[in-house]
Amino acid sequence: MKKSTKKNQWQSYNLPNHLGYFGEYGGQFVAETLMPALNELEAAYKKIRSDSHFKKEFKRLLKDYVGRPSPLYEAARLSQKLGHRIFLKREDLNHTGAHKVNNTLGQILLALKMGKKRIIAETGAGQHGVATATMCARFGLSCEVYMGAEDVQRQAPNVFRMKLLGAKVIAVHSGTATLKDAMNEALRDWISNVSNTYYCIGTVAGPHPYPMMVRDFQKIIGEETKQQILKSMNRLPDYVMACVGGGSNAMGMFYPFIKDTQVKLMGVEAAGYGIRSGKHAAAIVGGRLGVLHGQKSYLLQDAEGQIIPTHSISAGLDYPGVGPELSYLADQGRVQIVSATDKEALEGFEMLSHLEGIIPALESSHSLGYLKKYAKKLKKNSVIVLNLSGRGDKDLNTVAKLQKISL
Ligand SMILES: *Cc1c(COP(=O)(O)O)cnc(C)c1O
Repeated sequence: MKKSTKKNQWQSYNLPNHLGYFGEYGGQFVAETLMPALNELEAAYKKIRSDSHFKKEFKRLLKDYVGRPSPLYEAARLSQKLGHRIFLKREDLNHTGAHKVNNTLGQILLALKMGKKRIIAETGAGQHGVATATMCARFGLSCEVYMGAEDVQRQAPNVFRMKLLGAKVIAVHSGTATLKDAMNEALRDWISNVSNTYYCIGTVAGPHPYPMMVRDFQKIIGEETKQQILKSMNRLPDYVMACVGGGSNAMGMFYPFIKDTQVKLMGVEAAGYGIRSGKHAAAIVGGRLGVLHGQKSYLLQDAEGQIIPTHSISAGLDYPGVGPELSYLADQGRVQIVSATDKEALEGFEMLSHLEGIIPALESSHSLGYLKKYAKKLKKNSVIVLNLSGRGDKDLNTVAKLQKISL
């Protein structure tokens, strides 16, 4: 009886509700002055969501400019080594090298519809900043990217890329001078410039409607995967895995599979030096309910509710929060959240490079590291899809440094 109720719950899954909640997660925890902007954004998004011209333009540019559909590649040598049939969804082959561009394309098209000429964004590692700057160059929009001063130092190549693309990079010195501070600054900018400015958020976090909107722009990943696996295997996969920072590549991959309850969905968070060390970025595995950047979700915080400084070898996972929908799906048991340490991620990074000739992003390497460690514990001869969220070129310096090699 209980089982069938649960199943029905997923057959009719349709969140967020009209207030932007996924269960108790999400919402709009922002200054009163920002509410008109969020309402304007939500109304505009609802309009374009069912607009066939918009959908056509989005699909056309995903194809011609981003290079979609991305292949679903059966990794034969990796499969042989780990004893399953493993398929990689190649988001690393997208223009700009990761899944981020799916979302920035959607949001920039929306900004154009809304008549906003100035785009702002936050970025951590610089991947979302580069994807936003790319789309702004493509459409002739002005682009300003907020980035923690610490990250500006650590991610110099991406700062240079954004500048080449015509964007202005604003270094943020407050707090720990990292991603969360950049996002605070971007929200502040938006409050003072709502009339001409569009704020392009890079993951499924922030106040409603962002978590819903970013998920919708990213769900192309899971939609394609479903078609591709049905075509090659004539069945759905047993497991679908993705790494989790804010949660956008995971939600994009998982969303079209939510109703297919026979498919196990697994999200891999960054365990840094280990969950018990306290130096990690695993918000669901190691955090508590809290409010940050306009939303209620799992959050890494101390007893007083102060945000704890996070650590991960991969800058893209180094964020103290996570999107509300993943928090909800994890609580409800639809998505299983696990974690991989820096060391395990590096093992995954090396494994894929050697076995398949594909150098993965350190973010995606967390799923690979987890799979390497736990392949034997999964059901024998499983069909596994792993979302390869990005390519590893941006991480060469980080890995070289660890191997004491200077490039
Ligand atoms: C930004 C990034 C991530 C983490 O962000 P999500 O919103 O959790 O997807 C993962 N992989 C790559 C390659 C990234 O650039």
